Amino acid sequence: MPTILITGTNRGIGLELVRQYAADGWQVIACCRNPDTASELKQVQGIVDIHALDVTSDADITRLAGELAGKPIDVLLNNAGITAKNDSFGSTDTETWLRVFHVNCIAPLHLVEALVDNLAAGTQKKAISISTRMGSMGESPSGSYYAYRSSKAALNMAMVNAAADLRGRLILAMIHPGWVQTDMGGTQAPLRPQESVAGIRRVIAGLKPVDSGQFFNHDGSSIPW
Ligand code: NDP
Repeated sequence: MPTILITGTNRGIGLELVRQYAADGWQVIACCRNPDTASELKQVQGIVDIHALDVTSDADITRLAGELAGKPIDVLLNNAGITAKNDSFGSTDTETWLRVFHVNCIAPLHLVEALVDNLAAGTQKKAISISTRMGSMGESPSGSYYAYRSSKAALNMAMVNAAADLRGRLILAMIHPGWVQTDMGGTQAPLRPQESVAGIRRVIAGLKPVDSGQFFNHDGSSIPW
């Protein structure tokens, strides 16, 4: 069965991704900041491995790459992400902005760099990043969320750029999961993680080399930059 590595798997969309891929028989390498407290993750049957990974830690990424050296990985799923509080016009904060950028944009690219050989050795050769249509300029932002929106727009650019560098080697794509009931999405969100993740998995399964560098909704439609 194929192997998938997922970040941010202790809750939310990441946890549901683990559940569905594991239930489907995939070899799931689940990463999270603190495996000791990831009680729901540890209850999922069929996970191959749980790795401690703070995606903003270069040391963690280097250690993970060392532990996985020589292991083919079919799909990398950059899921971990954060938003910022009080991030509206007039109250943006430099430190907060930099932290959001690190998690949402820089870390996903660092993971592709660190695991590129594993992915190239896999059968599917896919590096997927969970983005958001809140980072789309084509969809006319409604204001606020400066750090979050700009970090995800930058994530999209970083991955489009990497798709150019890795053309012919890997398929890189961004997926908007919808507005989902998680700690981040809140209880008003229309989608349950189960529905969102089912869509994300269908999109990933259908990706072909020609789709590299593209931005998809969870229903498979395209999202403007
Ligand atoms: P949650 O807030 O529920 O979960 C976020 C996950 O990211 C947690 O597992 C968290 O771990 C992890 N994480 C945060 N910072 C780090 C870090 N430095 N290192 C490792 N892991 C980290 O969010 P969602 O599940 O809703 O979001 C998942 C992805 O989907 C994100 O990229 C988000 O931007 C995107 N998204 C979500 C939408 C929604 O409506 N929910 C809409 C559009 C996009 P910990 O518990 O340790 O903090």
